[in-house]
Amino acid sequence: MDFTLSDEQRAFQETARDFARDEWLPHAPGWDAREEFPVEALRRAAALGFAGIYVRDQFGGSGLTRLDAALIFEELATACVSTAAYLSIHNMAAWMIDRFGNGAQRARLLPKLMTMEHFASYCLTEPNSGSDAAALQASARRDGDDYVLNGTKAFISGGGTSDLYVAMVRTGEPGPKGISCLVVEKGAKGLSFGKKEKKLGWNTQPTAMVIFEDCRVPVINRLGAEGDGFAIAMMGLDGGRLNIGACSLGGARACWEAARDYMLERRQFGQRLADFQALQFKLADMATELDAARLMLWRAASSLDAGLSEATMQCAMAKRLATDAGFHVANEALQLHGGYGYLKDFPIERYLRDLRQLASKKSPVAGLGPAIHDLKRRRTEKERRGCPAPGRARGVCHCGTAASSRRGNNPSANLRR
Ligand SMILES: Cc1cc2nc3c(=O)[nH]c(=O)nc-3n(C[C@H](O)[C@H](O)[C@H](O)COP(=O)(O)OP(=O)(O)OC[C@H]3O[C@@H](n4cnc5c(N)ncnc54)[C@H](O)[C@@H]3O)c2cc1C
Repeated sequence: MDFTLSDEQRAFQETARDFARDEWLPHAPGWDAREEFPVEALRRAAALGFAGIYVRDQFGGSGLTRLDAALIFEELATACVSTAAYLSIHNMAAWMIDRFGNGAQRARLLPKLMTMEHFASYCLTEPNSGSDAAALQASARRDGDDYVLNGTKAFISGGGTSDLYVAMVRTGEPGPKGISCLVVEKGAKGLSFGKKEKKLGWNTQPTAMVIFEDCRVPVINRLGAEGDGFAIAMMGLDGGRLNIGACSLGGARACWEAARDYMLERRQFGQRLADFQALQFKLADMATELDAARLMLWRAASSLDAGLSEATMQCAMAKRLATDAGFHVANEALQLHGGYGYLKDFPIERYLRDLRQLASKKSPVAGLGPAIHDLKRRRTEKERRGCPAPGRARGVCHCGTAASSRRGNNPSANLRR
């Protein structure tokens, strides 16, 4: 087992770290205080290839792996967890279009997502179905060349602001197999939004209900076949969970570093906090927790890249550990600042509020099995029939071409410069 990052991966990390420090960090407290969605800062991230990290390169994506994405999101989140988390949702929605869309959908929808001229949202949750997502009720009735949608999606990141809404809606029987995935475009007749939610954190991304009232969506906007929607949603979440876990590690690492620096300066009982052995142990424990979570996250990402059957479970487990560890470390870092940690003059409280939201999203691993298994089996069959190099990286690439060779053929990815 090789735990060493390649030179290329170190370069991605460094690019993301420098970008986050220079372009996001100085502004993040202001975005949070003003509840500002930083459109231009996101577009600058897109210019580096961060809007479609694991979207294939022929549609403007960076064609990288899930492990590469985890490295990048960790670095971005050291500056702003909330903005990095929104970017991760945008990446997930774009990947769903790349992975499950047809040629025409990719050609029409992806280029503007890759530059972030257009923003994307992921719409699964409803007022009456959260953890139990397969019970969703928003309906889509076929009417000629359109679907007619009725229902409400709750808590949608980017709601009211995004240009595309990748929405799971019911086209058939109760349960997961009656769900389809439609791309609803802003401006669609019958599409409206609730008020912008007031939140504890995640203030740099708007959250709102997305409301369908006899909303007409062309049938050509459906991703995959009727009934594939739940499995598509869950496969999107495999990578989504990795990215959220990585965001948690990044935010917590920033808190850890702030606590270390503070302990080197703050004096009590005639010595620096850093000289108290109990606090040294605490800092060491915090670093250990983050590193353990990072290892688990990287393993899950590697499994997803390799198309292993255990990837879904590993992604959910890694996300659980990374987000709980991240929040715990941030909370400890706040404690190490004493009363000052609670003040907005210090950075910890912003990270803590944003990390709390990551830790609140639990992973309902059980119950996903049949729908995902079925879709993966059918996709694998198709790939086996039409794929020049099947087997490797099935979770990322339709044709299964190995990640390393895809990189070599990707002149457009700015990440590589
Ligand atoms: C800021 C924010 C942004 C979000 N962005 C998006 C988005 O972009 N797209 C989207 O689709 N959704 C989004 N969500 C929704 C989020 O994913 C849901 O809140 C989450 O899935 C939980 O659903 P719920 O809130 O309905 O809680 P519920 O499902 O009602 O759960 C309430 C509590 O009960 C627990 N619980 C539920 N079922 C069980 C069980 N069987 N056994 C034990 N405990 C259980 C839960 O863990 C939780 O603690 C967002 C939420 C927030 C707050």
